[in-house]
Amino acid sequence: MSLKIMEKRPIYDYSPTERNKALLSLGLPDFIEKELDKWFFRKKDLDQSKWTKISKEHKLLLNNNFDFNLPKVVWQGLSSDGTRKFLIGLEDGNSVEAVAIPAKDRLTLCISSQVGCAIGCTFCHTGTQGLTRNLKVYEIVGQFLAVSQWLIQNVSKESRLTNIVFMGQGEPLHNFKNVKQAVELFVSQTGIALSKTKITLSTSGLVPQIEKWEEFPDINVAISLHAVRDDLRSQLMPINKRHDLKRLFDALKNIPLRTSRRITYEYLLIANLNDQEQDIEGLCELLPRKQSKINLIPFNEYPGSDYKRPSNEQVLWFQNELHKRGYTCTIRVTKGDDILAACGQLKTEFEKVNIWDGQRVSPKVIETNHYE
Ligand code: SF4
Repeated sequence: MSLKIMEKRPIYDYSPTERNKALLSLGLPDFIEKELDKWFFRKKDLDQSKWTKISKEHKLLLNNNFDFNLPKVVWQGLSSDGTRKFLIGLEDGNSVEAVAIPAKDRLTLCISSQVGCAIGCTFCHTGTQGLTRNLKVYEIVGQFLAVSQWLIQNVSKESRLTNIVFMGQGEPLHNFKNVKQAVELFVSQTGIALSKTKITLSTSGLVPQIEKWEEFPDINVAISLHAVRDDLRSQLMPINKRHDLKRLFDALKNIPLRTSRRITYEYLLIANLNDQEQDIEGLCELLPRKQSKINLIPFNEYPGSDYKRPSNEQVLWFQNELHKRGYTCTIRVTKGDDILAACGQLKTEFEKVNIWDGQRVSPKVIETNHYE
C-alpha cells in the first residue's frame, strides 16, 4: 500500500475528471473522492486526522501520489475598512497578492494570475516588474483555498469567500490555459462550486485570447479600457499598439453574453487626461448602452507618479454625464488604502527566501500601482 504509482502532483492541479481517473487508477473506492471534495473544497480543512472515514492505508496511498500542500499565507494586513491583504508565498520563493474585500452581502477575493506582468501599462508598477512567470493551476486555486482556510482558522468558522475577481497581479488571459482550468475548478460542482456569475475576469484586451472566450466557462468579463482614443490608450497601455480599439471591439462582439450579462469597462480617471467632455462622447460612441457597465476608478496617486487624481467634483460630473446618456456607471470606492491594498497599490517586494523550508519571510510593502 505504500506504493508510489503516479508522478506526484498537487491535487489542486487536477481537473475534476482527471482527479476521478487518477483516484480510480490507484484502485481507491468511490467514496474517497467525495470525502476529499468535502474536506478540501467545502470545509477547506486539510487536517488529515479529521479524515476519519479514510483508512490509514488509503491515506498513505493518497500521500504517496498527491501533493496536498497549499501556497502559504506569509503575511496579512487588515485595513480599517475591513479589506484584508494577503501575501501568498509560492514554492519557488516568489510571492503574489490576494485581497479579500468585504461588501454588504459578499466577500470578494481579488486574486493574481501571474508573478509580475508583461503588459507594461504605464500607470501600473506591477507592469514595470516585467513577467517572472505564469502561475500554475494549483497556485491560482490555492490562493482561494489558502485564504479561505486562514479566514476560517483566524476570523470565524463561518467566514466564506463568495466572489472572485481576477484583478490581482498579471494579465489573466496571458495565462489562458491555467486560468481557464482554475476557473473550471472554481465553478465545478465537484470543485469549489461557485456560481459563474460570482466570478469576473478582467483583461487589458488581449485580442487573440478574447477571440477564444467561448472556451471559458460563462463568467463575467471586465475590460480595462481607460481611454477612448488609440493614441492615448497606447500611451497608457502599450498593448493597444498591437491590439487597437477597433480590433478589441471587433473581438468583444464575439463574446456570447449568454446569461445576461453586460461587459464591465474599467475606466481609470486621470486629471486632465481622459476626464473631459470629449472622453464622455468617445465612450458613448464605443460602448453599446444596454450591454455595458462603466466602472470609474479615480487614479490613486503615488509618490513619483506622472498622473494626477481628478477632483471629486470632476469624478461625480463624469459619472453624472454618463448617467444622463443612459449608461450604468459606478465609481469604484477605494478600499484598503491604509494597507496599500487599494487598486493602484498592488505590488510587494519580498526578500527571496524559501518559505517552504520554514524560513522566515519579511515582506516589505512598497508603493505600487495596478489597475485592471
Ligand atoms: S494593469 Fe494589469 S495588465 Fe496592466 S501592467 Fe498592471 S497587472 Fe499588467
